[in-house]
Parts: sequence; C-alpha cells; structure tokens
Amino acid sequence: MSNVKVRFPPSPTGYCHVGTARMAVLNYLYAKKHGGTIYFRSEDTDKARSTREFEEDIKDQLTWLGLSWDDFSRSSELVANHTAAMQKLVDEDKAYISEEESKKEPGTMVQVVRLRNPGTTITFTDVIRGDITFDTTELGDFAIARAIDDPLYHLAVVVDDATQGITHVIRGEDHISNTPRQILIQEALGYARPIYAHYPLHLGSDKSKLSKRTGDVSVKSYREKGFLSPALLNYIAILGWTPPSEKEILSLDEMVAEFELTDLHKSGAVFDVEKLRWYNREYLLRMPESEFASEALDRLRKALTAKGVAYDEEIGQKILPNIKERISTWADIDQMCADGELDFFFVDPIPAKEELPGKGSDAATAASHLEKLHEMLSATDSEIFSTPDRLKEVVWDYATQEGRGQVLWPMRYALSGRAKSPDPFMIASAIGKERTLARIVEAKRILTT
Ligand code: GLU
Repeated sequence: MSNVKVRFPPSPTGYCHVGTARMAVLNYLYAKKHGGTIYFRSEDTDKARSTREFEEDIKDQLTWLGLSWDDFSRSSELVANHTAAMQKLVDEDKAYISEEESKKEPGTMVQVVRLRNPGTTITFTDVIRGDITFDTTELGDFAIARAIDDPLYHLAVVVDDATQGITHVIRGEDHISNTPRQILIQEALGYARPIYAHYPLHLGSDKSKLSKRTGDVSVKSYREKGFLSPALLNYIAILGWTPPSEKEILSLDEMVAEFELTDLHKSGAVFDVEKLRWYNREYLLRMPESEFASEALDRLRKALTAKGVAYDEEIGQKILPNIKERISTWADIDQMCADGELDFFFVDPIPAKEELPGKGSDAATAASHLEKLHEMLSATDSEIFSTPDRLKEVVWDYATQEGRGQVLWPMRYALSGRAKSPDPFMIASAIGKERTLARIVEAKRILTT
C-alpha cells in the first residue's frame, strides 16, 4: 500500500449533491489508482447548519454510487486536537486571543483566536493549475477560532489533514482562495504541506453554479427518479474528465485504471440531464435480461394497479421489448403509465368513431377493411400471434394492395384507441387472438352504427 491518503470532507449542511459526489469520485479514483486510502471526515464545524440526517444521506448516496472509505470521523469529535494545536500557537506567540465585540451580538465582548500573519508571499504548486502565488498581507491577522475550544473551519481542516496523514487535497476550485490561509496555519504549526489539486466546478445546465441546497441536484433525487447508480457514477466521473482511451462507458475499475488528475479539464463542464439520460439508457440496455424484466414488470404492475388498470403479467412480458425501446430511466415507465400510454394493452379501448377511418378514408371503407382483417386473422392459427412478424405476414399483402394507411390505421386505432401507439402487429401479438378479434368487431360495430 502506498502512502497516498485522500479525504472526503463534506460539510453535512445539505443532502448529498452532485458536487459532493463528484468530489468523492475524483478522490476515490485517485486513491485507488495509487493504492492509497480514503478518510471520510464529516466537517460539522458549522454547528447551526450541520445535521446527522444530512451526514447519513451523504454516506448513503456515496455508498449507493459504489464508493467506500477506510476511516471515518467528525470534526466536532476532534476539537481536543484543534484546541491543543491552537494552544501551541498561542504559547509560541504565533497566535493570540483577542477580546472583541461580537459581530452577531453587538455590545457583547467575545474572545477570538487570531493567527499572527507573517505577511509572506505563498506559492503552491497545484497539480491541475500549476503554480499559484498569493500575497497574504491583505489577509491580516485572520481569525482561526471563535474561542480556544471553538475552532473555525481553516484551523480544523489543517489540523485534521495533518493528524490524519492526508497527502493529497483534491477539491473544487472554490477552495483555492482558502489555500493560502491554510498554508499559513500549516507553516505556523510546522506541518508538511499536502499536494493540492483544485479542479474546476461543474455548472448547471443553465450554466449557473450548482447549489447543494437545490433539491433537484441531490443524488437522492436522481436515485428516486430511477437512475441507475453505475450510470450516474459514470456520468459524474466523465464530467470534466476525458479518459485517455476516450471510452464513454466505463466501469469503476476501468476508471481507476485510466485516472490521472492531470487529465481533468481546465474549465467547468456543464451537467446535462439529457446526457445523463443517455448514459442511463446505455446501462439499461446492458443490464442482464432477467434483471431488467423483474424491475420493469414490478414498476409496470405497481403503476397500473395504482390507477385501477387490471394488470396481466403475461401481457407485461410481451410488451417488455417495446418498453425497453422507449425508456431511459425506470421513472419513464411510471410516466408512460400515468399518461395512459399502456392502458390499452390491458383494458379494451373505446375507439372514437370519427378517428377510426384515418386520413383520406371514410367509415364504410374502414369498416370493410376491418371486416377483411377479421376474416384473415380468424382463419389463422393462434400460434401466429406469438410474434408480430408472423402476424404482419398474414395481412401485409392485403395492406399493400389496398393502401397501407387505409388498412393499418383503422386496425391500429381499433386495437389501441390512440392516435399514437406501437404498430398493430405488436399490439395484436401482445393481447392475443381473442382480444384482437373482439376489438376489431367492436370497432366495426362503432363504425356501422
Ligand atoms: N467541508 C468543505 C466543503 O464541504 C470542504 C473542505 C475541503 O475540501 O478542504 O466545502
């Protein structure tokens, strides 16, 4: 095992959002690539906004995505280390406690711990961005704690990183401006400097910065919408990273094998839900058939039963290929059911008389075609209904001869009662001979009364 040690340091002040997941994915890939370990540190220094519920959610969603870590702790449980470090700084006169008027409660005096800023110029080498130089004079003697036992974020991060042996700090570029402060604290405490890599943040599809408090960018919301975890993981990983093989679909192991921080893009990628849907569809198509069938049928049964449609498993099985062709996420099945797009497979439709003939035809012509279709289809063996292709052979010559639209529109509309639906052979095959013939008879009756 190498000495590489990275950290997942989310602040549990919101649900796990895509940005948190991306931070974790990039750290994970780097650690695994280099045989290192991962320290999950829940940075709950902001006591007012941090909750265990958010912390649990972050752990849950990262685990769901397939990530893991080797150690875990909360900043709040490490305060003794922070206080000892501050005391050392105060004893060495590198920091001091000052009595100041509280900003929150004017008129009240509070003790603030401030670092004696030597006002040097700090240069650090960022793996992604190269050398970055800051003049730290303007930072002044910045605060490192609200009180000796109440550390502020910068002090806590520096002490925890050093205590936990973190070698690489891989985080979003919104933290670049924090780095000089953190280096000054490190230097005052005599700690080694970790290697820094600040990657560009990704943007929302409207090019805005994603906010962790916006519900719809939470990992949970994608999970609830029926996205598959390997698809979301894959998309998050390639958001701002092109693997050297230029492959788009990669397993976690393949990503680890290809990953290098230096290949991360220099500008922020846009999070595109359409592209995520594309990924999800690719993963659905690659899913073992039986796994796909079991989840899809379960969704179908629940969604249809909930709206009072008599679900039939045999028909469900038959329409699976059609469903697979049309969906990108599991939630698309729920939507199709809610929109009534699948009801006619299970319940006889009520076709509208004026819609039945279709364009450029009339009731009498449509009725005569339906009559003929009925005749041809009743003469066939039920076996023929087992595949749409064989059914098509039965009526194709007739339809071609009479005009396909004129024959197939009334047939399809009689079977589905909808202007848009799969082709009539697929429907007939799914519902079987008896129901097909009954629906054709009913449509003919509607046309002739
Ligand atoms: N807890 C910080 C955050 O969630 C990250 C700190 C760091 O990466 O140093 O933004």
